[in-house]
Amino acid sequence: MEPIVKKQRDYFNTNATKSIDFRKEQLRKLKRLLKDNEDDLNKAIYKDFKKSAFCNYTSELSILYNDIDEAIKNVKKWSAIKNVSTNLLNLPAKSYIIPEPLGVSLVIGAWNYPYQLSIAPAIAAITAGNTVVLKPSELPINTSNIMAKLINKNFAPEFFKVVEGGIPETKELLDQKFDKVFFTGSSYVGKIVYQAAAKHLTPVTLELGGKSPAFFTEKCDLKIGVKRMIWAKFLNAGQTCVAPDYILVHKNIKDEFLKTVKAEVENSHFAFENDNYVQIINESNMHRLIAMLDENKIYLGGKYDIKERFFEPTILTDVTFDDTIMKDEIFGPILPVIEYDDIDDIIGKVKSRSKPLALYIFSKEKKIRQKILNDISFGGGAINDAIMHLTNTNMGFGGVGESGMGNYHGESGFKAFSHYKSILDKSTLIEPNLKYHPRTDKKLKLIKMILGQK
Ligand code: NAD
Repeated sequence: MEPIVKKQRDYFNTNATKSIDFRKEQLRKLKRLLKDNEDDLNKAIYKDFKKSAFCNYTSELSILYNDIDEAIKNVKKWSAIKNVSTNLLNLPAKSYIIPEPLGVSLVIGAWNYPYQLSIAPAIAAITAGNTVVLKPSELPINTSNIMAKLINKNFAPEFFKVVEGGIPETKELLDQKFDKVFFTGSSYVGKIVYQAAAKHLTPVTLELGGKSPAFFTEKCDLKIGVKRMIWAKFLNAGQTCVAPDYILVHKNIKDEFLKTVKAEVENSHFAFENDNYVQIINESNMHRLIAMLDENKIYLGGKYDIKERFFEPTILTDVTFDDTIMKDEIFGPILPVIEYDDIDDIIGKVKSRSKPLALYIFSKEKKIRQKILNDISFGGGAINDAIMHLTNTNMGFGGVGESGMGNYHGESGFKAFSHYKSILDKSTLIEPNLKYHPRTDKKLKLIKMILGQK
């Protein structure tokens, strides 16, 4: 790994990656590469976990194309010097902020959206003028292989290089000094990455996971709310960091809610055959999910096939916060439903746990919506919808507390890979004697006056 990083550092130091034209050219090239190879990209992800071409386009490639188009359109604006006003003490002078790339960056991807979660941070890094070493997740091996093949064949390794591998390779990479580490994955590995980066004082963005709740309050549009929530939960068979992890439903609408959920799941026809479902990524994740199932609480579904890595959309009811399913992030197609009566009490229970990556409120009750938004800290979320907030690149996407730190997509991604250099550019026309010897009471009075501090 050492020579790879050294080569990139030498290249970065030539300043080649800083030119706006260079950045745009690389982004265009990346888009062309993805577009020209869509068929192979589709085949690879289908082999990994039966993700269809439809889903690959809507939840992976379209997001990358959008990020690239937006970056090309805005890179000049985002990287322009920003003038700011100068304080009285420094006049006459100009003050401005210069965005600059951090340097050599490391992007570590997760498996659940293998293209999106590897390439979107790389797009942000390139837009900001960095070089990139990309380490995709090793679990979906075919997508990892094809990203390595395409990128390493078409980009200079000193600028953009894919390194494949698992824990040993990632550890070796993390021993190197990078100028930025961008990690997507579990909170457990996030801590390992953070510690490794701390040894070099390297800044990190950590896009982690957690248990994201979805509230259904007493007065809500059940039909449309459940439709949107079920789509969000079972997209990618629940293997989505921002999927609703568990439901908090008001006790007065619980029965109606469950009936609506059942009808919606049946109506959705989740199956590989109709491109509407995916496999669980591997057998060990199948066993992890099976261990979470409480047979006595199954309301709907609960069947699985270990060999096929198929896990039916499953709804658990009468769940409590003490149940096994409520201990860790589910990251699969099991949806526990907890009923509540008192909003303050249930908010208190959510707040006593780690800060979620996402939170969803299905409600027509403005006061309750505002109370939840005000009282609970979480990464981001939606009202009367789920997951779709991350498609709006005008808002950054990221977690807080155990669900992560830092944001990306759109300008937030550019900022994640940039340093903002503050410059005071002073005139030499005059030089007041105020701060120099001799230090008199009169001068001190004047300084206080200028500072507005009596
Ligand atoms: P993971 O943490 O197991 O792996 C992520 C990456 O870290 C992989 O590239 C892997 O090779 C590497 N890795 C694994 N163990 C390591 C170790 N001991 N030392 C160094 N590197 C190691 O995560 P995952 O299973 O790929 O993804 C699932 C998790 O990611 C879930 O918690 C999910 O919520 C989270 N996630 C978050 C986001 C987000 O944007 N916030 C997106 C997708 C997934």
